Amino acid sequence: MNYPEIKLLVGSSQIGHDERAGRAILNPATEEQIGVLPIAEEADLEHAIAAAKSAFPAWRDTTPWQRGAVLHQAARQVRLRTDEIAHALVMENGKPLAEARGEVSVAADTLEWFAEEARRIYGRAFAGRASESRFVTSREPLGVVALFAPWNFPVVTLVRKLAPALAAGCAVIAKPAEETPAAPSLLAGCILAAGLPPGVLNLVLGDPARISKHLIQSPDVAKISFTGSTAVGRTLASLAGENLKRMTMELGGHGAAIICGDVDPIRAADMAAAAKFRNAGQVCNAASRFIVDRRIFEPFAERFAARASALRLADGFDPAVEMGPLTNHRRVEAMEMLTQDAIAGGGTLLAGGRRLDRPGFFFAPTVITEVPHTARVMIEEPFGPIAPIVAFDQVDQALDLANSSAYGLAAYAMTNDLATARKLTRGMQAGVIGLNSFSVAFPEAPFGGVKNSGWGVEGGSEGIDAYLTTKFVHEA
Ligand code: NAD
Repeated sequence: MNYPEIKLLVGSSQIGHDERAGRAILNPATEEQIGVLPIAEEADLEHAIAAAKSAFPAWRDTTPWQRGAVLHQAARQVRLRTDEIAHALVMENGKPLAEARGEVSVAADTLEWFAEEARRIYGRAFAGRASESRFVTSREPLGVVALFAPWNFPVVTLVRKLAPALAAGCAVIAKPAEETPAAPSLLAGCILAAGLPPGVLNLVLGDPARISKHLIQSPDVAKISFTGSTAVGRTLASLAGENLKRMTMELGGHGAAIICGDVDPIRAADMAAAAKFRNAGQVCNAASRFIVDRRIFEPFAERFAARASALRLADGFDPAVEMGPLTNHRRVEAMEMLTQDAIAGGGTLLAGGRRLDRPGFFFAPTVITEVPHTARVMIEEPFGPIAPIVAFDQVDQALDLANSSAYGLAAYAMTNDLATARKLTRGMQAGVIGLNSFSVAFPEAPFGGVKNSGWGVEGGSEGIDAYLTTKFVHEA
């Protein structure tokens, strides 16, 4: 399958790179150019805003059943085109084909979930102050919303915004990441083929800072939702604040996993390593600091390192692949820097620690023990295949270390003791917690962070609230 030609989608027009300045799109497994990203000009952004603004009233006035029907049909389209979308994902992101197929399947599930949630947008009616008077509340779509998605899960991070926005009746301007525009474009194609009116969904690509600034400053954009790094989130949140725009921020994380001494260290290490190296560790809610009871520390760390060393790194299309390349060279450089810093601080390298001697952004799955708490890898979001493992003696000590992070997205605990489980799930400062599980993101469950990890939630029955506002009417 060829990599599709990438086009901006503004109103009913599609604009390719032959009409605009372009930027190379690389295959991270080979570093070869696979496509060209057309860079939106200011006029394209204005055109997208105008198209969304003019399409909004008619879409707002559709019934929830009509919007739900479009989203259900979009889910069917996505399932039918799974192979095509998954192939594009592997080519531009690098993840193994099986993981790409899984991502597409979750995208279809998410469209279905919000197709149903559209029907559950309820208001209230209650007695007013005077007899015969009524107080009525209704939930109304915000208007035109701007959605910014990253490159690690280009389809799922976008659909977690897009599906509730469309279900609520909003019109959308979406900006996928520069590295990974094809899979989101195919997703948009599925939604349009399902009968979404032109202009309700626009796709812009190009210079992220210029696009976000332009959209946030526009009086016609009511809300932004961003998934990406805390640093960029801070910039966008400031801009949104200046312009009094609503926002949802899904930012970085540095998930602590507290592994207690009463669990089987081999099973725990197998589960933890599988979770850690999924998507080459480029997962915002990944467990990325392993805090392990000293009594099981050695067998846990040894098994974890053995699993890491045994992982087969290859092109995502290779049938034997277990971990693909990182998505861009910046992550490889970050992995090298974090590894060197941890070892210089006294850490012991048990596995990996180096880039592979071949083309592509491959970095060996890396395990480091005895890492000082002040090492950068214990403080900064690693966002790659590097796992620091440290020991604890008392659960309170583990909890303090887990909570010492500025991030608060996901946290994990493994224990068979009920009292310890409750202490940890209550005490861990995180928006989502996995207890004896490393899975925390589902279409039907809320997902979002505290502290520097963000603001607001996506998913679950809460997910649609981000695109609605409450109107109150006093009927005398
Ligand atoms: P980056 O911060 O430059 O870019 C991250 C994403 O933000 C990209 O998709 C980019 O298109 C977008 N972006 C950058 N500047 C923007 C702007 N001014 N306005 C709107 N969007 C903008 O960094 P990177 O090197 O691509 O990734 C590094 C870090 O990003 C990682 O360490 C990780 O912490 C974070 N990240 C987080 C997620 C997540 O799911 N929360 C996803 C991808 C990256």
